[in-house]
Amino acid sequence: MKTIFEKSNNTNGILLTDENEDLGIIENKFLRTDSCGLPSISELEVLRHYKELSDKNFCIEKGFYPLGSCTMKYNPKVNELLASLEGFSNLHPLQPDEDCQGALELMYKLQEALKKITGMDAFTLQPAAGAHGELTGMMVIKKYFEVKGDKRRKVIVPDSAHGTNPASAALCGFEIVQVKSNEKGQVDIEDLKSVLCPEVAAIMMTNPNTLGIFEEQVLEISKIMHDNGSLLYYDGANFNAIMGYTNPKLMGFDVVHLNLHKTFATPHGGGGPGAGPVGVVEELKEFLPSPIIDFDGEKYYRNYEINHTIGNVRDFYGSFGVLIKAYAYILMMGKHLKEASENAVLNANYLKEQLKQYYTLPFDTICKHEFVLSSEELKHKTGVSTLNIAKALMDENTHPPTVYFPLIVHEAMMIEPTESETKERLDEFVQTMIKIYEKANLNPEKLLSSPHFTPVKKVDETLAARHPDLSFKNAI
Ligand SMILES: *Cc1c(COP(=O)(O)O)cnc(C)c1O
Repeated sequence: MKTIFEKSNNTNGILLTDENEDLGIIENKFLRTDSCGLPSISELEVLRHYKELSDKNFCIEKGFYPLGSCTMKYNPKVNELLASLEGFSNLHPLQPDEDCQGALELMYKLQEALKKITGMDAFTLQPAAGAHGELTGMMVIKKYFEVKGDKRRKVIVPDSAHGTNPASAALCGFEIVQVKSNEKGQVDIEDLKSVLCPEVAAIMMTNPNTLGIFEEQVLEISKIMHDNGSLLYYDGANFNAIMGYTNPKLMGFDVVHLNLHKTFATPHGGGGPGAGPVGVVEELKEFLPSPIIDFDGEKYYRNYEINHTIGNVRDFYGSFGVLIKAYAYILMMGKHLKEASENAVLNANYLKEQLKQYYTLPFDTICKHEFVLSSEELKHKTGVSTLNIAKALMDENTHPPTVYFPLIVHEAMMIEPTESETKERLDEFVQTMIKIYEKANLNPEKLLSSPHFTPVKKVDETLAARHPDLSFKNAI
């Protein structure tokens, strides 16, 4: 496919008249004399170009998207409409407080809603993504110990953790200590006790963890950590597992981040804006990024008076457009947020029970919003690996699950259907997975060369990783 620059042919979507050319508003010396190098192409061709590009892509509007740990759920379109209201979209971040009371009120009320949902005492809305929230939370923890004059340089991370957890802590200068999972797929308490020492600043946990399993001993873990003077960080990226049922405060956590672009139905960034608000307990409030949005009983204002603030982690106040959409979602759902969790968990368990008859379920227990299967046995028997299954799913208009993660399960497939799918869609996915399973047993060759019907066919994974060709020149 040609790029839009290559398609440029001196046609134009708009006709500039003489009057448009010289309005006399801009002085001659500021006017550009050379071409600005933008493609010149008719409006219809522009539309065709981008439609063709988007057709090559996969999205939730096209088909089932069970990408574990990513919560690819439906993003209601009404949220887009609300975020594009003029009063929001024309705001400038440097406008004084009295000129943007509505926007400040929205951010304040979103903070209040997130406090209620998580049990935390204060929130910052600044971080732009989950990993950015983790970094912010770890900076808060680091500063907390610094101000106390307590030198702690270690952070404990379970071996099932999302890769961003150790990365965020390491970026903050902490040394990572890994703890094992036990035979139930949960943190091994004995191993945890064996690595505890006065130098441990915190443990970073995901609960339910990335196997989709609830850490039953979380209260004991929180007691052990607090007795050691350490803090507990909660990775709440996938909060649709527990909303309304329990919260990190009840489990004894001190810091939590949420992914608005997962749980709260705003679009995933794809490199663009997401939001990873961070909540903390009262004791850590004075370390949050400044400003936080406050209310003095009469007006909303940006509060810069935060004693030991770690500073600003993002220009201005975060991805405001995303905050609007998440707030709209929370208001729209109200007490039904609890049902969202109920359905997310029900859908995951429904799929798990059907698929475990074909693929190996390493931890056979009730799961929360997701579960992990393994195709190790199938690979052993037929040569068809998790990677081949993932590619075969693409031929079936289905996005593959997250694969080869978490690392503690070989040939892992991490499946998260989310709450927005109907039983019919789930049944369809089960049938597709059975079809692939049967093909693997009967005619594995065909699967080994999948995908056959996607814009990009089978790629050399090693070459793609070692020598990525990112130029558009050889693009499809
Ligand atoms: C997605 C995710 C993250 C990272 O969030 P980003 O917005 O992608 O940075 C962290 N932890 C868990 C458990 C996640 O699922």
